[in-house]
Amino acid sequence: MTARDIKPCPQNDADPLLISYLDAIVALTCQREALGLTTSLIDSLCQHVRAERFRLLAVSNLDRNDELDGSNLQGAVVRDWLEPLSVPVPIRYDQDLLACARTKNRISRKLPGMKGRRLILPIMGVGHVTAMLVIEGMRAVGGEDEVLARLLQIFSNQLYLLSRNELDGLTGLHNRQSFDERIKHLVLSAGHRDRRAQSYVAAQQNCLALFDIDHFKMVNDKFGHLYGDEVLVQFARLMSRAFRHQDMMFRYGGEEFAVVLIGIAPEASVPVLDSFRRSLEAYEFPQIGCKTVSIGVACITPGESVDTTINRADKALYHAKLNGRNQVCCYEALVAEGKLAPVTVATGDIELF
Ligand code: GH3
Ligand code: MG
Ligand code: MG
Repeated sequence: MTARDIKPCPQNDADPLLISYLDAIVALTCQREALGLTTSLIDSLCQHVRAERFRLLAVSNLDRNDELDGSNLQGAVVRDWLEPLSVPVPIRYDQDLLACARTKNRISRKLPGMKGRRLILPIMGVGHVTAMLVIEGMRAVGGEDEVLARLLQIFSNQLYLLSRNELDGLTGLHNRQSFDERIKHLVLSAGHRDRRAQSYVAAQQNCLALFDIDHFKMVNDKFGHLYGDEVLVQFARLMSRAFRHQDMMFRYGGEEFAVVLIGIAPEASVPVLDSFRRSLEAYEFPQIGCKTVSIGVACITPGESVDTTINRADKALYHAKLNGRNQVCCYEALVAEGKLAPVTVATGDIELF
């Protein structure tokens, strides 16, 4: 029997709120990946907590700075349960959001003009706040905040355990398994929007870029495997500095990496990727010297299979390798210029709808 099979017993005299929180815990502990976990938590809360709006904010930079004044703190609204978001929206920190991030305590306040209260709950990573749940227009009675805070503690612990499995041990970037899950989710969710959101999705594009370090084997052969590992670690650091908070970065395979660029069309992604390529070219790895990278990029089309997207980016990468390495090639541009035959859509794409 799995946790999924366990249903709370119906009891007429049981407190419905307590039952609903137990349901939320059961749903939380069933989840095997972070996105599903977050969605199931907030879905449960939306049903049972009387409030107008739920938002999940991802916080960054907290591990690097003890003195936080709002200017050195970044982050984005990653989920809004009132309004679907296609791209994360940067957070504007007010006094209470900053206080929650800084003190790791929940903050509850009645704001002028708002019905009910705003409750901000911290979600903890290792030693610092990694996210905050903001509940606006909350009309709850006393005692509920404590239950919610405990629920988020369970959520934080689960998230930590899951994220350990989603990260690559050497570079700290997301691993291949996480790549498969996330890109599938991105393609599927973009294909299932309602009419209002559909137009928003159509107005924005996401791209997949694949990176392969040039002549990486030479590093291992000449300096040894440990030096090779160090190049991979530094490469991942350079990537983390070059791309935005909302872009998703992965170690795709040995010396291969991937980035999902959110809200950027393929042609517009080329200068961004080329800027990273140039910064790598200029970087001197201690004792090893300079390394270069070849990059292939393709558009993520909602409704097409993940395999098709990967295949297109891979074709562009292969083209970059064959034509001298150390360059960015865009699948759509290569096809338009007649330099690459179009990749036919894989059978099974239709299943997505
Ligand atoms: P190309 O420019 O064509 O990409 O050449 P390359 O040498 O980079 O590519 P190739 O596929 O020939 O070699 C990749 C090497 O990456 C071989 C493998 O030993 C090494 N590698 C894969 N994973 C790791 C790792 O985790 N650590 C280290 N040090 N090396 C790794
Ligand atoms: Mg390779
Ligand atoms: Mg290589």
